[in-house]
Amino acid sequence: MIRRRTFSNALAVALCAIGVASCAVDDAPDVGILDPVFAKPAEDVRVLSLRRGETLGQLLDGAVSYNEQVSLLLAFREQASPRRMRPGTEITLRYRPEDEWLRGVDVAINRDETVRLTRDDGAWLSERIVTPVYVDTILATGEIKTVLWTAVVGNPALASMPVGDRNRLIDHLDNVFQWQIDFSRQIRVGDTYRFAFEREVRHDGSMRAGRLLSAELVNGGTPYYAVWFDPNGDGQGSYFDMEGNSVRRAFLLKPLAYRRISGRFSSSRFHPILKTWRAHRGVDYAADAGTEIMATSDGVVIHRGPKGSFGNAVEIRHPNGFVTRYAHLSRFRTGVNLGTRVHQSDIVGYVGMTGSATGNHLHYEMLGRNGKQMDPLSVDLPAGDPVPADDRQVWYSAMTKRVALLESIPGSGPVRTVAVDTEPKESAQDRGGGS
Ligand SMILES: [Zn+2]
Repeated sequence: MIRRRTFSNALAVALCAIGVASCAVDDAPDVGILDPVFAKPAEDVRVLSLRRGETLGQLLDGAVSYNEQVSLLLAFREQASPRRMRPGTEITLRYRPEDEWLRGVDVAINRDETVRLTRDDGAWLSERIVTPVYVDTILATGEIKTVLWTAVVGNPALASMPVGDRNRLIDHLDNVFQWQIDFSRQIRVGDTYRFAFEREVRHDGSMRAGRLLSAELVNGGTPYYAVWFDPNGDGQGSYFDMEGNSVRRAFLLKPLAYRRISGRFSSSRFHPILKTWRAHRGVDYAADAGTEIMATSDGVVIHRGPKGSFGNAVEIRHPNGFVTRYAHLSRFRTGVNLGTRVHQSDIVGYVGMTGSATGNHLHYEMLGRNGKQMDPLSVDLPAGDPVPADDRQVWYSAMTKRVALLESIPGSGPVRTVAVDTEPKESAQDRGGGS
């Protein structure tokens, strides 16, 4: 379980990857051809991994004296809890090569943070180091030939992204468009998409975080837009269309994440929906047993339990008098009971095949005030405030830049703009009055 490697080599690779280009200067001196230099490594390292049930102290037994261990653990505790370490945690012991004197210990507490412990005159000091990432923006455009899933995951522009990250990208698109388009039911062959996606990338190429900056989806000839706007720069922003209206609606179009709905890999011959709304006054979504089911809107639980052929069912009454029904559940979410208040996107239960279901699927129904079923796609109730008047000009400038990213994608053409009124009333008066 002991690997030996040279820490200085790993560091050199990491530094190169950060981007030498940014260090380049215009008039670099001509130094001719350099011979490679074989410098003695600054440190020898020994990488250990924490075994199940093993403590940090136990792992360090033998490497440091008992007194030093106490000092080291005290220093570690200033940054992280030694009790909360998972088996497999990587611990790097760093030695001075001349005499194999332990000079430091690095504990990778998660993928993005390391606690670095340094020996200093017999005492141990600690600091928390955040693994460096670089930020880039990915631009992609495509046309749907079968399903959205295939069109995005198979896009050559995204080939450098690990598959897991491309899956997460689909979730981002779904989260942004979940009020406008049901990706599993409404996407048609010939629909097009384009987006600008900003991500933080670790040096192994995996994504730490990502955010759609702007996206366009043309569905059946109708363009939909989502542009990120974060006026306070605190990550608490939201998405708006090009006119500054919130993309949010009172109801999600579907109670399952698109990625969890079965049938996305197949050709258009196989539709993910077992039956259409017209056929039986509800929508069936095929999904694996245990898939999380979201409440499509805020409301109060008015039924939770078996209900004839529906099997285990949850019903929620919403403030506008509509009721949503979720049926054939394998089980209910703990804490979801009769009278429980739920918010949009809260998990209420899990997909199953109870009642008269022949396979795992969710039967979803929406009932109007008159108790009659209605097509969820026919409901379009705005929710979420538009860009506030005070932020309007900042918004317009941010939106224009983010939409320009979409237009910069080769071959994607201009977006279909709408007239935007950006002039606040006050400034119009100022101009007219002329002081
Ligand atoms: Zn059904």
